[in-house]
Amino acid sequence: EIPKEKFNYQSDVARMRKIVINSLYSHKEIFLRELISNANDAIEKLRLTALIDKTVWDGTDPLNITIKAVKNEDGKGGKLIITDTGIGMGPEELTTNLGTLAKSGTSDFLARAEGAEGAATGNLIGAFGLGFYSSFLVADKVHVASVPAKSEKYPEPVQYVFSSSSEDSSFEIFPDPRGNTLGRGTEITLELKDDSSEYLENQEITALVSKHSSFSTSFPIYLFTQRTDEVPDEDVILEETQSAESVPKPTSDTDDADADDTDEAVIEDVSEEEQTPAPPKMKSITVDEWVRLNGQPPIWTRDPKEVTDEEYTLFYNAFFKDFSPPMTWTHFSGDSGSGVSFKAIVFLPDKIEDSYWQQPLLSQSKDIKLMVKRVFITNDLGEDALPKWASWVKVVVDAEDLPLNVSRETLQSTAFLRQLKSIILKRIIQLFNKMADLETEDSEKFEKFYEIFGGILKLGAVEDQKNREKLAAITRFTTNHRNFTTLDQYLENRKQGQKQIFYLAEMGENPQELAKSVFVEKLHARGYEVLLFTEPLDEIFVQNIRRWKNVPFQDIAKVGLKFGDEDTDEEEEKEQQKEAAQKYKPLMEYLQKQGRGVVRDVVISNRLVTSPVAIVADSFGYTANVQRMMASNPG
Ligand code: ADP
Ligand code: MG
Repeated sequence: EIPKEKFNYQSDVARMRKIVINSLYSHKEIFLRELISNANDAIEKLRLTALIDKTVWDGTDPLNITIKAVKNEDGKGGKLIITDTGIGMGPEELTTNLGTLAKSGTSDFLARAEGAEGAATGNLIGAFGLGFYSSFLVADKVHVASVPAKSEKYPEPVQYVFSSSSEDSSFEIFPDPRGNTLGRGTEITLELKDDSSEYLENQEITALVSKHSSFSTSFPIYLFTQRTDEVPDEDVILEETQSAESVPKPTSDTDDADADDTDEAVIEDVSEEEQTPAPPKMKSITVDEWVRLNGQPPIWTRDPKEVTDEEYTLFYNAFFKDFSPPMTWTHFSGDSGSGVSFKAIVFLPDKIEDSYWQQPLLSQSKDIKLMVKRVFITNDLGEDALPKWASWVKVVVDAEDLPLNVSRETLQSTAFLRQLKSIILKRIIQLFNKMADLETEDSEKFEKFYEIFGGILKLGAVEDQKNREKLAAITRFTTNHRNFTTLDQYLENRKQGQKQIFYLAEMGENPQELAKSVFVEKLHARGYEVLLFTEPLDEIFVQNIRRWKNVPFQDIAKVGLKFGDEDTDEEEEKEQQKEAAQKYKPLMEYLQKQGRGVVRDVVISNRLVTSPVAIVADSFGYTANVQRMMASNPG
């Protein structure tokens, strides 16, 4: 008997599986997307490793993903088998990769999911990928058979199985009793739950793949199908009609009668029916076929006019593994200027992780996926990495005119990456402008945009000299007059003679409170607009840009404050005061009489800007604050 080693799941995994099994029922279809995405990753890894080490893969045997549904004989339930020819896993990897939670985001997910109730957890699944554990949404038992690619670590690879059921808090690892049926790669067998037998239907599988995986999976996905054909009887040996392009490696299924038929384009199972020879000499045969599910060209190569928003969103979700819809995107083709033409989609995500703000300035984007003729090359732009302010962007770029075997080093010696970087930055700013233009049309969308990217705009203006002007121009501020003021709008609203941009900064305060400060009051009374800074980045922003359209910033709590109206207006103001006193004399007399015993005096004010009247404390009276304090503390 084969020794089976039993392991307990790490406690996090046990918790994770419990959440997955109990509360994500309505999202169970995502299991297929997750497993295909893992298969795709594994093949990508194989291909990239093989660039350096040919023993891993010699470049000849096909790289693909196959799906096969096997119904039980009794017609109830069955298994779904997903196989890839990727890098594979040895027994150690099976244990660590599938038995522990390696993903950093997952523990975050756990913490939040455990605090949330059913429906809320469902939303959370959108924000995190659940990966392999999503298998247990639809399966009672999961078996993962895997053979690692030949390497120094595994000179003689052996097929091992990881096996676990949804009830157990443990899993088993053992050599596969079937031997090495895979050659290389991974085969996931899901013993479907009774309530998940819809995933045995090829129609359902086809629909799911096309929805979640078809635009984002670079390697062919084949589905096992059987169809019945009527053929002339003498034509017993079928001609190969399928193109050699569709060469899937057959699944390891032991009950697959054609398992040894590896080199055939189409695996055909010609089973003669027992019947009396009919006059027209026709007969029915059953043809086994691997049908490609993702034959469509990748989304970025298509005409943007023909791609729906939903397709972009589904692509984004699967390709970047960010399961919230993107905020906006731009899809374009271009020329780098050095003769490299390319197609690209630049996406703005709809959130910036909190951790982004805690990381140092040099953090790198992992989501600029550079392809050459549809084949993934790198997500590392090296020296041409985007600056921090843009490092959250998600981009796919496919260059046509570069050699497929181009290395990152070679790429860096061309001007392409540098040019690409500046093109991406330009597109991000375009998208920012597009979102900022929504302010009047769709203020809700605009405000969401600003909530997420407001800080980014300021950071960019600080960090990126070259794009400073453009980013600062989109940045908004709250003032004593209004919300979301641009610097240009501020300047338009300038009073005659005003030579400074006034601001007051107090970190952590809210703008409404800040507006009540005596410093602001003084300027407000004179009709000036004051920027109210309450975030650390605001001050850094001002210190870096220093002036806007040649007008310097001035902290109104600090020396150097100049009113533009000082010398000219003082006389004028006195004159105005006199005039008003004349004009409003009857009103004043009336109000003074009416207010007797209620207020000390009624005067014409030069402090008010928008309010018609204000009750103020004079130098002998209590201020409103002191009065409030005394009222709440009798005695
Ligand atoms: P993620 O894909 O985000 O890393 P998963 O839970 O989906 O998380 O998978 C966990 C790990 O298991 C993967 O990182 C990978 O190392 C391994 N793995 C899963 N599926 C496969 C596969 N088909 N081939 C090789 N390794 C796999
Ligand atoms: Mg995964």
